Amino acid sequence: SGADSHAEFLVLGAGPGGYTAAFRAADLGLKVTLIERWDRLGGVCLNVGCIPSKALLHVAKAMDEAQALSAHGVSFAAPTVDLDGVRSFKDGVVGKLTGGLNGLARKRKVTVVRGTGRFAGPNVIRVETAEGTQTVSFDHAVIACGSEPVRLPFLPDDSRVIDSTGALALADIPERMLVVGGGIIGLEMAQVYDALGSKITIVELMDQIIPEADRDLVMPLMKRIEKRYERVLLKTKVTKVEATDAGLVATFDGPNGIFEAEFDKVLVAVGRKPNGALVAADAAGVTVDERGFIPVDTQMRTNQPHIFAIGDVVGQPMLAHKAVHEAKVAAEVACGEKSVFDARVIPSVAYTDPEIAWVGMTEAEAKSKGVKVRKGAFPWAASGRSLSLGRDEGVTKLLFDPDTKRIIGAGITGPNAGDLLAEAVLAIEMGADAEDLALTIHPHPTLSETLGLAAEVSEGTITDL
Ligand code: FAD
Repeated sequence: SGADSHAEFLVLGAGPGGYTAAFRAADLGLKVTLIERWDRLGGVCLNVGCIPSKALLHVAKAMDEAQALSAHGVSFAAPTVDLDGVRSFKDGVVGKLTGGLNGLARKRKVTVVRGTGRFAGPNVIRVETAEGTQTVSFDHAVIACGSEPVRLPFLPDDSRVIDSTGALALADIPERMLVVGGGIIGLEMAQVYDALGSKITIVELMDQIIPEADRDLVMPLMKRIEKRYERVLLKTKVTKVEATDAGLVATFDGPNGIFEAEFDKVLVAVGRKPNGALVAADAAGVTVDERGFIPVDTQMRTNQPHIFAIGDVVGQPMLAHKAVHEAKVAAEVACGEKSVFDARVIPSVAYTDPEIAWVGMTEAEAKSKGVKVRKGAFPWAASGRSLSLGRDEGVTKLLFDPDTKRIIGAGITGPNAGDLLAEAVLAIEMGADAEDLALTIHPHPTLSETLGLAAEVSEGTITDL
């Protein structure tokens, strides 16, 4: 073909989607090349997403819990923060995981090419590496080029206006920080900076934080941050940010009229946009829609049957666990297996404190679609385990089809909600009904009992809470 090298299976982008596809295809016996422009494998998730954010959230939560102990008879001195130490804990976690990926790639004889890849034809890609241009021809390719933060065009080009990557870099602890966007990423980063000492303002356009989750699940977090943060502004938009030597002056427009406030940093967390337009997909004849998403079928094939796309670049929800499952399908289909992406549901989790986790049908969705649901909710104020953690604000809610009693949705708020939700996800995938959950013996005293108890509430076997 005249190319510098040939891959039976070529993967563009080494995030959770890309490295999973590469490893699965190698395990199935294909000769695999993985192209990545960054020094480290792991993509957004491992380097500037899921993992560093969770390491910092752990530090924030431990600080809060230590302070909360004063209500239980144990007091510590006020914390002192060594920012270099916090940063190196986070970098250490990331380094272990990304280093582990190098080892896994080596073990599978996956060829890693460092550079930016762009298609040069239906079966060839051109990679700009530090040593010059390389071409790789391929039989099958997977586009796993991910997404990047959305920028707001009216914000000034100023080093004090940052995105999630800038926030995770933890350059300093601003005295006052504005977080634009009350979604999961904004709220997680707000929690980190609040614990480290920043005064936080959150501004959200919609009438609730995390608008895609049910209001009852979000309220416990809302109550907590309303108390702790300087301001939580709903139904409000930022119309202007002016950079001055002293700070960033933001103009807000909301229910309280138009007003200004000054900040040391502005974190923009208003969503992510797909990188589909950056890989010259048209040179391979692959369709990219006007937003930059690449349309695929249930086998993760693009309009070119030998080219697949997976992960953030194929659409919402932009979550690592979705990318990983799509990746396996793409690799298996390229090997001639009849795999399809057939998940009934994809769970979502905000790793705030309390955590908010939900899956499947929400109550708001049921209402807007006119779907009848039967609900069972168990308040954690009645959970011995929750109270012994010093927490009473959580809730476990299950939604069932009233006819079949099958579980169709779940929402959990409280410490470890994300881990607890996994049982509900499995229940939905398995077609479990309320009785299955209620009759399953959950260990006592655990937070997991609240799932069995919520099912009992829906069955009417517990009524008096
Ligand atoms: P990415 O991880 O975006 O990887 C794409 C890779 O492709 C990158 O390494 C990029 O450098 C490379 N690339 C792109 N174009 C080219 C090119 N032309 N040539 C070579 N390389 C290229 N998800 C969760 O499930 N749980 C969480 O807790 C969570 N937390 C998050 C927190 C933050 C702050 C952010 C920003 C995101 C978070 N996410 C979370 C989302 C998650 O990171 C993404 O869904 C996931 O990384 C998507 O994986 P991917 O493989 O599609 O792409």
